[in-house]
Amino acid sequence: MPMTGLRMGVVGGSIAGCATAIAGTRSGADVTVYERSGGELRDRGLGIVIPPALHTRLVGLGYLDASMPTAPVASHVWLARGLRTAREIARQPSPVTPCNWGLLWQSLRANTGKARHHRGRPVTAVGRAPGGGALIRTAEGEEAYDIVVGADGHRSLTRQSLAPGLEPTAAGYAVWRGTIPMSALTGHPRQRELLREAWVTLGFPGGHGIFYLIPAGADADPAERLLAYAVYATAPAGDEGRESAAYVREIADEHFPDEWADIVARGEHVSLVRHPVTDLHAPRAADPPFLLAGDAAGITRPHTASGAVKALEDALCLEAALRDSASPGEALRRYEAERTAEGARLVELGRRLGVAQVERAPDWGTMGQSEIDSWFRAALAGTASYLYEG
Ligand SMILES: Cc1cc2nc3c(=O)[nH]c(=O)nc-3n(C[C@H](O)[C@H](O)[C@H](O)COP(=O)(O)OP(=O)(O)OC[C@H]3O[C@@H](n4cnc5c(N)ncnc54)[C@H](O)[C@@H]3O)c2cc1C
Repeated sequence: MPMTGLRMGVVGGSIAGCATAIAGTRSGADVTVYERSGGELRDRGLGIVIPPALHTRLVGLGYLDASMPTAPVASHVWLARGLRTAREIARQPSPVTPCNWGLLWQSLRANTGKARHHRGRPVTAVGRAPGGGALIRTAEGEEAYDIVVGADGHRSLTRQSLAPGLEPTAAGYAVWRGTIPMSALTGHPRQRELLREAWVTLGFPGGHGIFYLIPAGADADPAERLLAYAVYATAPAGDEGRESAAYVREIADEHFPDEWADIVARGEHVSLVRHPVTDLHAPRAADPPFLLAGDAAGITRPHTASGAVKALEDALCLEAALRDSASPGEALRRYEAERTAEGARLVELGRRLGVAQVERAPDWGTMGQSEIDSWFRAALAGTASYLYEG
């Protein structure tokens, strides 16, 4: 039944925050979003991959605009260094829809309907209200809500109400993530062509790099592309102060095939971030009147390409639960039953993929199609991943 008059406060206005705000407004709730950052989140120009079926569903339901540019590809190609140049060691069917993070956020934000957005307003505390419901406190005062959604990311303050003291666990390695302009591919027509049809894993000793094309930023032609990458490696001790682009180029110089090292060396790296790889699973995704969504509920290692996917699916689950329940408490309990298990599944999958591809990375050069297929099947251990459905 429609939750008309339900007051829903959302802490965080990023992917999970905007998606759950849409879920709330579509279910008839009165939604207020509090975002700490005063800047435009759309300027985070990184790559995000989602399953094509989820993209279609979100467009159909009005969460995403059909006009949001994407750069779909159908395959996954594994490369290793031959003598000096790249050798294709395996190819698998893997239809994915790469997006530009900023454009994805912008499209979600535009579809939050009547939700009120307070930008540049950090939430300082959340708590239970004496007569039921929850309170959100900011420097401007306190507001009461029937439901509070914690969409406040990996260091979630809201999570402290459900799981006090729970902190992310470090995997012991890091990921360098950025984008490079397409001009870096000039003079490399084969690599350019490959990237038009596939996303690429490039294995090297102790790690690997992921490469794929994404639509360029908000003011660009929808057909324009950027080369997005994520390089996973164990950083040498004491490197924290080192400039990140220089470190990625160092790895490329030492381990990449010549043409890929040249691409990485040529481009000016933008939106470059180094993340320590971590994971975390909140034991409960909801405890009325609180609900956690996106990274606040759980962090899966990025090998699953599922953090944003989970945030979007959290929102779809919330909408269905609100529509089909007789009370907000019942809706949150339904959400908890479904999303806690999915978060745990993704954390486990991320750990297994991290061990296989980084912590105990294989000798890539000795692998071929059948070795990659059986090694990867073992890493998945029967768990489904939209990246490896084939
Ligand atoms: C290398 C890498 C590659 C990835 N690739 C993929 C991929 O291909 N596919 C995929 O699905 N996922 C991917 N992910 C994961 C994905 O980026 C995240 O899971 C997703 O962006 C999390 O969104 P979120 O809204 O939960 O959190 P965030 O984007 O972290 O947003 C949290 C928001 O809450 C705000 N906030 C925090 N505290 C407060 C407060 N007290 N008051 C008010 N506001 C607050 C913050 O300012 C922020 O805007 C990747 C991650 C990494 C690191």
